[in-house]
Amino acid sequence: MNMAAVKTDEVQKEESMILQKAMISSNYDALSTAHEEGKKISSTFVPGNLNELLMCFDFVRNLPEINALQAGMRKKSGGYIMEAERSGHSEDVCTYVKSDLGMMAKGQVGPNGKPLPTPDLLLLSYTGCFTFMKWFELVRDEYGCEAAMLHVPYQADGVITDNMRNFVVTQLKEHIIPTLERVSGIKFDIDRLREYLTQSAKAEDNLVKVLQSAKNKPSPIDAYFGGVYYCGPIFTAFRGSEQTTAYYEALWKEVGDRIEKGLGPVTPEGTLKEERIRLVVEGPPNWTHFRDFWKMFYDEGVVVVASSYTKVGGVYDFGFRHDPEHPLETLADYCLGCYTNRNLPSRVDMLCTYMDEYQADGFLVNSIKSCNSFAAGQLLMLREIEERTGKPAGFIETDLVDPRYFSPANVKNRLESYFQMIEQKNARSADRTAA
Ligand code: SF4
Repeated sequence: MNMAAVKTDEVQKEESMILQKAMISSNYDALSTAHEEGKKISSTFVPGNLNELLMCFDFVRNLPEINALQAGMRKKSGGYIMEAERSGHSEDVCTYVKSDLGMMAKGQVGPNGKPLPTPDLLLLSYTGCFTFMKWFELVRDEYGCEAAMLHVPYQADGVITDNMRNFVVTQLKEHIIPTLERVSGIKFDIDRLREYLTQSAKAEDNLVKVLQSAKNKPSPIDAYFGGVYYCGPIFTAFRGSEQTTAYYEALWKEVGDRIEKGLGPVTPEGTLKEERIRLVVEGPPNWTHFRDFWKMFYDEGVVVVASSYTKVGGVYDFGFRHDPEHPLETLADYCLGCYTNRNLPSRVDMLCTYMDEYQADGFLVNSIKSCNSFAAGQLLMLREIEERTGKPAGFIETDLVDPRYFSPANVKNRLESYFQMIEQKNARSADRTAA
């Protein structure tokens, strides 16, 4: 794969962004034809997904959050959410859930314009968000299909103990794998799992190099807006495949090239010329106005150098890799280590480390109105991080896929005042250093 910045419809995109888009749409095509081809479909969530294990049973993988995200980017989620609210779901319910339910009510047409078939299995790996459980309870009734649940203990004390790991492994052996065998009709082959895990670890190595490239000045990537494209394949239906390993090798080569040339990130309007502010961002982005939101940052020379959201499908930058030598234990550790499964002090430590190692000028929270899993405790985190790092923190509120909760003028105003405050602070410290 030869990756370079290319222009499509007047929007600049890195080739990697186009490739990941093609991978995601190929998965929708695979879903559309799965049943005709005699394949089974599993639905599963991004955090704690057991993609390599599902691949061992030839399941085609459907990820409901990605369907909602795609609906948001395609401006369809607003209508789906209204539909779900009309049938009684409250305004406070996670909008990914309502987008999914609304999509089902309106004929279950996927982002490729073709019907999304009913899954054969709902595989819930429970990693810290209670909504996941309620979401699958609702769709299980609609689909009338089987659900299997992997209970993952919360990291309340910020550590993974042997007991916690064994608890997950036992469920994999005694409940999850037998269910996958029965539904798929395919016998489990642990060597097949080892092969996929080997591919995962290679891709994870390169993903980490890409994310950590943002320690350079200027950063060659935007680790939030660009980061969501980079994480796309590994967070969804592709982790463990050779195609994904090749994608991350090529992506790292592309980013390495940008470092050598001293280039900044590619934005939809071309390469960023001047990096003025470096930020760490907590919380998912808004999808309904994704490009307008990003523009509010790059227009001001603001680059996100690290974010918690690009860890939601796996925290790899502190050393964890899928380990083919311990196939089931490594799946357990992956689930236990998910960002949403970590307690607040661990999240704060992680974000403070980013602030320091990535030499950030500020910390910004994009609080998502309907995502309690991320939003709970964010103000507390903000105060703690501000105090520990001495860097200014900012707070905005938007939503994932409900367009009613993205107020462009309001968000822009708040961001501009925040960026101004950072620049003033930076100027004062530069003066002090010069004096
Ligand atoms: S509440 Fe947040 S983490 Fe949970 S399903 Fe909704 S968006 Fe995902």
